[in-house]
Amino acid sequence: MFRSHTCGELRLDNAGTEVTLAGWVQTVRKFGAITFVDLRDRYGITQLYFNEDLNPQLDAEPLGREFVLQATGKVIERSNKNPNLPTGEIEILVQSFTILNKSAVPPFSIQDDTDGGDDVRMKYRYLDLRRNVIKKNLELRYAVNRATRDYLHGQGFMDIETPFLIKSTPEGARDFVVPSRMNEGQFYALPQSPQTFKQLLMVSGYDRYYQIVKCFRDEDLRADRQPEFTQIDCEMAFVEQEDILVMFEGLIKSIFKQVKGIDYADAVERITWEDAMWHYGNDKPDIRFGMKVANLKSAFNKGGEIVATGELINGADFKVFDEAETVLAIAVPGAAEWSRKQTDELTEWVKRPQIGMKGLAFIKCNADGTYKSSIDKFYSEEKLAAIAQFANAKAGDLILILAGAEERTRKAISDLRLELGERMGLRKKDEFRLLWVMDFPLFEYAEEENRWVARHHPFTSPKPDHIQTMIMNDPFIMSAVDYLKHPYATIKANAYDMVLNGNEIGGGSIRIYQRELQEKMFAALGMTEEEALHKFGFLLGAFEYGAPPHGGIAFGFDRLCAILGGSESIRDFIAFPKNNSGRDVMLDAPATIDEKQLKELSIRLSEL
Ligand code: ASP
Repeated sequence: MFRSHTCGELRLDNAGTEVTLAGWVQTVRKFGAITFVDLRDRYGITQLYFNEDLNPQLDAEPLGREFVLQATGKVIERSNKNPNLPTGEIEILVQSFTILNKSAVPPFSIQDDTDGGDDVRMKYRYLDLRRNVIKKNLELRYAVNRATRDYLHGQGFMDIETPFLIKSTPEGARDFVVPSRMNEGQFYALPQSPQTFKQLLMVSGYDRYYQIVKCFRDEDLRADRQPEFTQIDCEMAFVEQEDILVMFEGLIKSIFKQVKGIDYADAVERITWEDAMWHYGNDKPDIRFGMKVANLKSAFNKGGEIVATGELINGADFKVFDEAETVLAIAVPGAAEWSRKQTDELTEWVKRPQIGMKGLAFIKCNADGTYKSSIDKFYSEEKLAAIAQFANAKAGDLILILAGAEERTRKAISDLRLELGERMGLRKKDEFRLLWVMDFPLFEYAEEENRWVARHHPFTSPKPDHIQTMIMNDPFIMSAVDYLKHPYATIKANAYDMVLNGNEIGGGSIRIYQRELQEKMFAALGMTEEEALHKFGFLLGAFEYGAPPHGGIAFGFDRLCAILGGSESIRDFIAFPKNNSGRDVMLDAPATIDEKQLKELSIRLSEL
C-alpha cells in the first residue's frame, strides 16, 4: 500500500495510529536535531516530525522543496497547534521515509501568496496547479460541471457529442481552420459552437440535448476571452421561449444551490433589450445597484421611433448640450459632499481614451435644497431643480452628466455607472443577481459592408409578429444614414441573454425551423442562394424533413465558474489556459511545423 491516508485527513482522533503518507515537501524547517516538514497533496497539508535518532539518514539525504516523499510514522498530538490547518492538532512522528523523487528548485514558491509573476506561472503551469488557490478553482469548476449534469439529467436531457472537424458555424468570429491531408487543398473549420448540430439533433427527435463542450473562436482577445472555451450547450424541441426561460433559470438556481448553498428564491427579473439600453446604457446591466440613467436627450431608437427629448436642457445657450446628440445623467446617492478634487478626478476618468468623453458636468443637490453646478452659468436654479427631478435625484445626491454622440455617450454613462458602483462598494462579490435580457433586435447594421448582420446568429427566429415585416420588406439599404429608419431595424428576435451581476453568462434563441423563412434570413444577410446552399444546404435540406419547433441556449461555462468563484479572470478557472495573445506559453504553441508536414498538407507558406 502506497499510503494509508491523505495529507488532509488525519485528526486528533487518529492519535496513536501508525500511518503512511505520500506527497510533496512544501517546507522544511530544521531546528538542530529536529526537522519539521509540511507534506502536501491534493487534500491538504500534514506536518511531519523527524528527529535524528529515528531518522539518522536525514543528514545524508537532505529534503528539498517539492521532493516527493513517502513517510511512515505515528500520529501524535502536537504541542504547538495550528488552528488554521484542518490537520493542525496533530503531526506524524516519522519512523521511516523514502524519497520517491527529487525536485529541482521550483521557479516560484508554491503557496497561496506566491512570488511568481503571471508569465512564469503560466510557463510552469503544472507547478502553479499545485497551489491551493488554483486547486480550489478547479474544484469549483468540477462542482459546477456536476451540478449541471445532475440537473439536466434529471430533466431528461441527453449528452450527445458533436464533431470538432466541421464546416464553418457562424457565431460572428473567425474560424480556426485545420488543413485536411487526405483532401488536398481543403480545410475543416473548428466549431465556434455546436449550433447547427444541435438543431439537426432536434430534427432527429432528440428533443432535450446538452453538452459541456469546447468551442473555438479566432477573435482578438480581451482579458477575459480565450480562443478555446467551454459552453454548456443546450437545445430543446417542442418549446416556446417561456419553456426555455423556466428550464434554464432552474439550471442556474440549481447550480447556485449545489455549488454555493444559495437559495435563489426570487423569480429571475426580466428586462427588454430596449429598456436595458435606455435605463442602464448597456445590454447586460448589473442590477445589484440602482443609479439608472436619466435620458435628458437621446437619439436612441426606442420602440421603433427616434426618441429625441431635450426640452429641459436645450436652448439655454449651452452649446455642448445644444449640439450633442445625446445627454445622459446619473444621480449618485449621497455624493453631493464629494470634494472638487473628487469631481475633477472623475472628469479625468471620463476623458481617458477608453471612455472618450470631452468632459463631465455635475449638479450637486445640497441638503438644504439649493444646487451647485458646473453649468449654473447656463441654467437657473429652477432649471437645475427640474433636471434633478427628472434624474430622480434626492437632496444630498450628485448628478453626473455626459453629452456627445449617442452610442459613445450611452456606453460612457454605463461605464461610469459601473465604475461608481465599484468604488462605492455596491457590486458585492457575494451577492448574485440574475436577469433575463429579452427581445433583442434581430439585425444589426454593419456599416463597412453596408448590410445587415444577425445580432445573435442567422438561425434565430424573429418574433412571430415581426415575421411579416421581414418577409415583406427588401433588406436593401440606401445608405448608412437611413438604416435606423429601415423596417428591419425594428424587427425583434425571440432571443434572450442571461445576465449575472453585469456579465452575460448565457444566450440563446427560438430558432427558425421552416426552410423558406431560413432562406429569407440568409438573403436578408446578403447571401446569394448559391452561397446559402453551399454553406448551409445540409440544414435547409433537414428542414424539409419534418423539423420541429425548437430553441436553446448556451452558457459560458468558464465565465460562470469565475463569477461563482468571485474572480474577474476566466483563466484562473481553466487548467491550461492561453495568454492574451492566444499563446500557450508552457507548450510554446502555436509553433511552426516542418517542411515535410507542410508538404503532406500541400501547403506552401508565402514569404512573410
Ligand atoms: N450557439 C449560440 C452561441 O454560442 C447559443 C445558442 O443560440 O444556443 O452563442
